[in-house]
Amino acid sequence: MSRFPDIRFMLSAAAPAQFPPDVGGEVAFAGRSNAGKSSAINAITQRRSLARTSKTPGRTQLLNFFELAPERRIVDLPGYGYADVPQQERSKWAPLIDALASRDSLRGLFLIVDSRRGVTAADEELIEWAQGKPVHVLLAKADKLNRRECTELLRNAAQRLSVNATTQLFSAHEKIGLEEARRVLELWLEQKNTPAT
Ligand code: GDP
Repeated sequence: MSRFPDIRFMLSAAAPAQFPPDVGGEVAFAGRSNAGKSSAINAITQRRSLARTSKTPGRTQLLNFFELAPERRIVDLPGYGYADVPQQERSKWAPLIDALASRDSLRGLFLIVDSRRGVTAADEELIEWAQGKPVHVLLAKADKLNRRECTELLRNAAQRLSVNATTQLFSAHEKIGLEEARRVLELWLEQKNTPAT
């Protein structure tokens, strides 16, 4: 049975004014287009087509909020990294994710990275965006690598990532690392808000 049985799509936001109230806890999910983010969200929440909502026409450049439980949300960010994404589009959503990063309720960022690519400069930009909030990197599609490649990837990722980041192997298809990912998500969502310093 799903650990998040009542999960539901809340809203798509095109502007910070449309975000849900900044109460409770939320965790953002980000990654390059095609990294495996939708599959990861679906596998972690055990809802087969939940994140498909974010891929419906008109929603791909928006921030999509899902409610896992009262005042517990995940936020699906637009996929990034395709060279042909017009600058105009990027400049449209950059202020949106800046506004998200500064919310009290944002507990951290799940960053989905395609294992065959490893951590890229665009991923590092996202980590910087998180403004020191915890980052958990899912090295997705790990089923495509052999054991030696997995070990190497983990080592390289750990070297490349900043101190506020943790990382793990993950595969939605082969169910690798699902429990570990769920534990991090739940831990973050249950944390109390720390007062601003
Ligand atoms: P998104 O664009 O980041 O949301 O990526 P998707 O979840 O839509 O996945 C992109 C492609 O990668 C699809 O063809 C998926 O079938 C494939 N994919 C996603 N997760 C896995 C995985 O765990 N293993 C493998 N081998 N392929 C995957």
